[in-house]
Amino acid sequence: MTLIIPIYALICGLLLGSFYNVVGLRVPAGASIIHPPSHCTGCGTRLKTRDLVPVFSYLLSRGHCRHCGIKLSALYPLGEALTGLLFLWVVLHEGISGRTLIGLVLVSLAVIVTVADLKYMLIPNKVLLFFTPILVAMVLILPEGQLWSHLSGAAIGGGITFILALFGGMGMGDVKLFALCGWVLGIPNVLVAFLAACIMGTVVYGLLILAGVLRRKQPVPFGPWLAAGTLLAYGYGTTMISGYLSLWS
Ligand SMILES: [Zn+2]
Repeated sequence: MTLIIPIYALICGLLLGSFYNVVGLRVPAGASIIHPPSHCTGCGTRLKTRDLVPVFSYLLSRGHCRHCGIKLSALYPLGEALTGLLFLWVVLHEGISGRTLIGLVLVSLAVIVTVADLKYMLIPNKVLLFFTPILVAMVLILPEGQLWSHLSGAAIGGGITFILALFGGMGMGDVKLFALCGWVLGIPNVLVAFLAACIMGTVVYGLLILAGVLRRKQPVPFGPWLAAGTLLAYGYGTTMISGYLSLWS
């Protein structure tokens, strides 16, 4: 693969990441994603082109609005950098294939869900309703694996999270999200994703509780971990399972 494709993917990811921030921050608040144009939430000044360069604008202004000096959320550059790097990862890992397209859509869903869930502790239905038909169609059109595997993946993903939701550990947004992720991953990768999500979430929140940043029993978002586990399983699930099985043979 020439260098131009990964660079292009990175730049697309940075620019789209900026848009995904807007979607993740505005949709749960019931605001339009088009109007008003990007503005400082402190002074309302409309952002100019040079304020909109992903990551770099934030670094150059050291995280403050150039007009009123208010501190800007680090969520903006992080969302942009994360999307850029994940787009790059998908292209480097999958090459140019149907899997690449599905991977890029999964990354987009993961970033929007993460921003919304971190900020509002919810996964907006509108976002899931937008991505569900796209991912259902992509898996059907770009076939990999068997239909029964994707159907069982959706049932298992939705099922495990639904049981946890009954006990109050998760919300219905998590259930719908992970049913969709399970559809894309199929079995057994949906289980890898769930296990990875639980391990990452437990370790990170455990450390934050130990460090005194979080209180015990404080509700925490689980959507970002389900999304991260899904990406991990999408990229490495099959390798991880065969590696694990070879330990026993
Ligand atoms: Zn301002």
